[in-house]
Amino acid sequence: MSEGTAALTIVDATLDGERIGLRCEDGLIAALGPEVTPSPGEETIDAAGAPLLPPLLNGHTHAAMTLFRGHGDDLPLMRWLREKVWPIEAKLEPEDVYWGVRLACIEMIRTGTTRFWDMYWHPAETARAVEDAGLRATIGGPLFDAAGGTAEMQETALRNLAELEKCGPLVERALAPHSIYMASEELLRWTAVTAAEHGAAFHIHLSETEQEVIDCVEAHGERPVAYLDRLGALGPRTVLAHGVHLNEEELELIAERGSTVVTNPVANMKLAVGGAFPYPAARRAGVAVGIGTDGAGSNNSLDLLSDLKTFALLQKHTANDPTVADAAEAWRIATGERAPLLGATPLQPGAPADFLLLRPRSPELSLGDLHAGLVYAASGSIVDTTVVAGRVLMRGGEVPGSEEVLARAVERARGLGLG
Ligand SMILES: [Zn+2]
Repeated sequence: MSEGTAALTIVDATLDGERIGLRCEDGLIAALGPEVTPSPGEETIDAAGAPLLPPLLNGHTHAAMTLFRGHGDDLPLMRWLREKVWPIEAKLEPEDVYWGVRLACIEMIRTGTTRFWDMYWHPAETARAVEDAGLRATIGGPLFDAAGGTAEMQETALRNLAELEKCGPLVERALAPHSIYMASEELLRWTAVTAAEHGAAFHIHLSETEQEVIDCVEAHGERPVAYLDRLGALGPRTVLAHGVHLNEEELELIAERGSTVVTNPVANMKLAVGGAFPYPAARRAGVAVGIGTDGAGSNNSLDLLSDLKTFALLQKHTANDPTVADAAEAWRIATGERAPLLGATPLQPGAPADFLLLRPRSPELSLGDLHAGLVYAASGSIVDTTVVAGRVLMRGGEVPGSEEVLARAVERARGLGLG
């Protein structure tokens, strides 16, 4: 699918307390303000006073893992991966990934996420699903060579890059080594150079558990951030998912290199990784920060608005300070404002026409501060209308085709022995 071309006008939406209109043309916001009115015969949505907001940005997930939801819960990370995930992933077919991602996209559209960063097998199928669903994503297949096969993995990575290059403007490319414990020094170095050559991002899990840090120091004589930096992998197009066990020196180096950390508070708490991303120190150091859900296998939800509340509460609780991660700041993180690499789509003329209309007159948002209502009172079900590139993906809480996608995803999961 290409960027939307038909004009669409939203009238009577509320933005910053003002009744405004928004006009989309060629997939972009052409005009925004009280003076915007539709031209006769054009597609128009009467928002009836509903709040207009920029969409949410999920900085780290494995979208196809909707198929694994409810399989292997309540286990430690490595047991969950070794016993429940990797044996089934070895049997995955492209169609499994396609339908798993289509289901994830429906959940994201329903809960206000319009762009996500994905790391999963068969990335070309993820891209096909993303384009069919009408969302945006930065996609990379996971790279592993802990058990050998570096050359084959490099070939796969190059093939994935070439396949993703054929996609339209909704898809961007990444190379995604799984982690420093699953990818060799040689593969990490090669990936950093290759990503830069192809203008692709570098997306990796880092410092999720303390054991990972201990093992890194033992194997390489340095902590994970210094290790990645020595391999040339810490740059402005690097996304580090998790970053739970980072010290101040590491945060300063991450900030200096312009890399982004994506925190996944719900997955971290569910897998009990022994701490929280040190957000106050990261903020002081000037680190770019985003938020992700991680996959539905370890969260188990893709409702980023719910996770935003968890993020704010976990940070306050950990810091023993209720002023940490205030609602407006949490909202900025979830919309990508604190991490330019992730690809935020702000509400302004010339920007991509990606936005949300919330349910009008909802109890959660009828009183008090809007950001406090969004972060502490609402969940993703507050979203009424989701628009990407000027194309309406959900109106009135209904995503067309949802039932078929759910049925196909359940069928694929059962075929894998899940569910
Ligand atoms: Zn992950």
